[in-house]
Amino acid sequence: MSDCIFCKIVNGDIPAKKVYEDDELLAFHDINPAAPVHCLVIPKKHIPSLLKLEPEDVPLVGRLLNRARELAKDRGCGEKGARFVINAGSDGGQTVDHLHVHVLGGRALVWPPG
Ligand code: AMP
Ligand code: ZN
Repeated sequence: MSDCIFCKIVNGDIPAKKVYEDDELLAFHDINPAAPVHCLVIPKKHIPSLLKLEPEDVPLVGRLLNRARELAKDRGCGEKGARFVINAGSDGGQTVDHLHVHVLGGRALVWPPG
């Protein structure tokens, strides 16, 4: 989608600090980190929200979550843990309408979030 900032990152139109890339997934540092480890993992395909998922994209979401797991381990969160967050829709706090998983770690995180 032309006006989507994460599609622009996928296309190289705006920069990001990439930490992983393959043919269908991309991971990069969140521009406004909420924890020492805070990366976003996205599908390169523009999927607006988990709530808008089409059945054919369900296997892709499995690979997205597995990549988030691998990323947390690669960034030192394998033992002490991490948080994997998918915000969806306005009440869910989603601000970028392109499916993404937040990978947060490197400190003890409180629950529940605000
Ligand atoms: P959400 O509120 O779940 O939609 O999360 C969107 C996240 O994207 C926020 O944590 C932002 O800090 C992050 N973000 C927005 N623009 C960029 C960007 N250009 N590069 C990296 N992260 C971004
Ligand atoms: Zn997009």
